[in-house]
Amino acid sequence: MSCKIDYQAPADLLAGRVILVTGAGDGIGRAAARCYARHGATMILLGRTTAKLEAVYDEIEAEGGPQPAIFPLNFEGATLKDYQDMAATLDKEFARLDGILHNAGLLGRITPFEQYDPELWEQVMQVNVNGPVWMTQALLPLLKASEDASVIFTSSGVGRKGRAFWGAYSVSKFATEGFVQVLADELENLSAVRVNSLNPGATRTRMRQEAFPGEDPATLRSADEIMPTYLWLMGADSRGHTGERFDAQPPRG
Ligand code: NDP
Repeated sequence: MSCKIDYQAPADLLAGRVILVTGAGDGIGRAAARCYARHGATMILLGRTTAKLEAVYDEIEAEGGPQPAIFPLNFEGATLKDYQDMAATLDKEFARLDGILHNAGLLGRITPFEQYDPELWEQVMQVNVNGPVWMTQALLPLLKASEDASVIFTSSGVGRKGRAFWGAYSVSKFATEGFVQVLADELENLSAVRVNSLNPGATRTRMRQEAFPGEDPATLRSADEIMPTYLWLMGADSRGHTGERFDAQPPRG
């Protein structure tokens, strides 16, 4: 596992690239969408709350980034047809996709497994695993049309080592790590699509606050501070890396 927190991205690292970020309206996804746009990418902002996506759209425009596109989609209710329609729209508009940051995520509940609500379990698996998996399947032809495509799946510390009470969230992140390995192995040598997992580490967001309500947020890195690894993994400097696990920041001491 490695971490590129000291990476200094060239200003034009992502110039001309078309990149999709899920969960782009808040937290780490919002920071990544803005940061990628500042480095020249045309952003596709996907999320479930249109007003939040519109706010990020405005921020990107105000910062002088390429005009983004907004894609409202809720992984909870989305169907295969939604993903196919999305692929058709992106095909018409861009004819390729140079990167996906799978970032949208649901925490579910931190609770003993004996008390875990099955409906919530399914919901977490849907948002964190199944939705992103089927969306990726629909978008594969567009990724293959790119000269250098990077697909990043967001993992977590509990997706690499299980921890009591983390239930569906932990299991969903293990599944994510597994899918990364399967897909990377399938695509290696056959395409210019690389697939890796990235653990942001403890980051000051709404989800972190929900998971650790007693924690002082001031002790955490902000989403903006962990962007170097996000940039490195999305841009050409990480070419040749696939099926690997990365960390956006060193473990907390
Ligand atoms: P936030 O809760 O701040 O953001 C999550 C994003 O996912 C939001 O934009 C949210 O949309 C979106 N989202 C949630 N459910 C859905 C859905 N059903 N359909 C579409 N979009 C959805 O969390 P973070 O920024 O902290 O988390 C980002 C990623 O990083 C997640 O995958 C998380 O598991 C992972 N992570 C975070 C850590 C941390 O310390 N923050 C540590 C380890 C991993 P909306 O705003 O509209 O609700």
